[in-house]
Amino acid sequence: MRTPVIAGNWKLFKKRAEARELVNGLAPLVKDVQGVEIIVAPVFTVLAAVKGALDGSAIKLAGQDCFWEEEGAYTGEISPGMLVDAGCSHVIIGHSERRQYFGETDETVNRKIKAALKAGLTAIACIGESLVEREAGTTFDVLRAQLNGGLAGLSAGDLKDVIIAYEPVWAIGTGKTATDAQAQEAHAFIRGVVSELLGKPAAEAVRILYGGSVKPENIKGLMTQPDIDGALVGGASLKADSFAAIASFS
Ligand code: PGA
Repeated sequence: MRTPVIAGNWKLFKKRAEARELVNGLAPLVKDVQGVEIIVAPVFTVLAAVKGALDGSAIKLAGQDCFWEEEGAYTGEISPGMLVDAGCSHVIIGHSERRQYFGETDETVNRKIKAALKAGLTAIACIGESLVEREAGTTFDVLRAQLNGGLAGLSAGDLKDVIIAYEPVWAIGTGKTATDAQAQEAHAFIRGVVSELLGKPAAEAVRILYGGSVKPENIKGLMTQPDIDGALVGGASLKADSFAAIASFS
C-alpha cells in the first residue's frame, strides 16, 4: 500500500566528477529494482551534473535543504522553486545536522515544509531524539513536539507530499543502528501522533523512513517492521554498491 522509499543523503560530500561517477555506477545497479522509490540528495552545486547523469534513470533528485522564501535579498539561500528548476522532486528538511549546527527549529522546519509543498516538491521531514533525550525517557515527548511544530497548519491532503524520516540522532553516523524493535516502536508512535493530528487515513498513507547507520546488513530487518517504509541513508549512500544493495532490500 505504501511504496517504499530509499533515499541517499550525500551530506557535504562529492564534487561534480565524483558525483557523476557515483550515479553512473548506481543507475545500472538499480535499474531492475521495482516498486521502490529511489532518491539521491547531493549538494546544490552538483544538482545539475547529477540530473544530467540520471537521464533515463528512475532515480529521483532531492535537495538537502531549502529556504522558505521563493526569492529576495537572502544571500546564500536556495528556494524551493530553484530546486524544482534544477530538476529536484524532493527536498530534505530539518535534518538533525541542520538543527544542531544551523539553528533549525520546528518553526523553521514548518515554514520550509510549507514552502516546499507550495513549489510542488515532496518534503522529507526529519525528526528524532538525541541520546540525552532517549536516556532521560523523553523520546516520545520530543517526537510529539517535533511533529506538532513541524506539521502545524498542514492538512491531511498536504501530507500526500510529505515523507517523515525518523532519525534518532544517536544512531546517525555512529554505526549504532536502532534495533528493529526500537525503530518500529518509534515509527508506530509517530504514525499514531500523525493520526491524532491529521486523521487515520493520512497517517496510514504517510511513508515513515528510518535513518541512522542503515547498511546493506540491517536494511532487511528494518524493512520487515510494519511501520517502517524505507530508509534515509547517509554514509552507505556514498558508494554505489552499498546504496544499490540497500535499495534492493526485497
Ligand atoms: P548515516 O546518516 O546513515 O551516515 O548514519 C543518516 C542521515 O543522517 O541521514
